[in-house]
Amino acid sequence: MVHKDNIIILSDKTGGILDKNKNFMAYVPDADICNQLVDSAQYGTPMLKIGCSSPKIMISAGVHGNELPAQIAALTLIKELYDKNINGTVYIIPFTIPTATMENSRRFNGFDMNRSASKEGSITNKILNTMDNLSIVAVADFHSTKPRSNPGIESVFCSKSPCAESYFIAKYITNIMSSKIICHPIAGFLYSGAIEDESNNRGIAAVTCEVLSENCVITKGSLERSYLQMIYYLKYFGII
Ligand SMILES: [Zn+2]
Repeated sequence: MVHKDNIIILSDKTGGILDKNKNFMAYVPDADICNQLVDSAQYGTPMLKIGCSSPKIMISAGVHGNELPAQIAALTLIKELYDKNINGTVYIIPFTIPTATMENSRRFNGFDMNRSASKEGSITNKILNTMDNLSIVAVADFHSTKPRSNPGIESVFCSKSPCAESYFIAKYITNIMSSKIICHPIAGFLYSGAIEDESNNRGIAAVTCEVLSENCVITKGSLERSYLQMIYYLKYFGII
């Protein structure tokens, strides 16, 4: 379903009233396109397309609804890039599960959607199928991690097989930002159902980017670090 200019609603099961999350709303950038996305979230998962050439890549945030910095960073990036000429196409999903963002919840209907991407009908499975349908070549999924948790440090997860480019993207971002690379030899080695692992297994290069922040809030500096991770991901592909 096309909602408004370049906004596509990927699922009508995930809608949420983001206005109810005050910690989130306090940081929404002042821009018409951001307001449109927040409004469209009541109908489901909105995805915005920016640009029209190759390469085509994706940015997703908010698969864990209580991780706020990346979701606001995605909106900030949208405000910056919207209406600008870029060297490629970026599909941005700023809030994967608006219901979970509204509730500041890691889970959706009791399940972790970043362990559910192989389950047909799940929102994360729909995202994978969308990437296939649109011939997207890479995805970066943006998260935050609280201190003393796993990984508990600014980092980028990747794997070397079957998609070596996952490793190269993570290496590029972590080298520039002096953060930690967490590389598994094989995608899906530790667990299955993550956007990153399932994408790599489909041949779509994928990484998971983490910044340090407490859950349900935006810890100082985390929004800026998440935004920079997105910028360097785009630079890797020469899109900006
Ligand atoms: Zn997460």
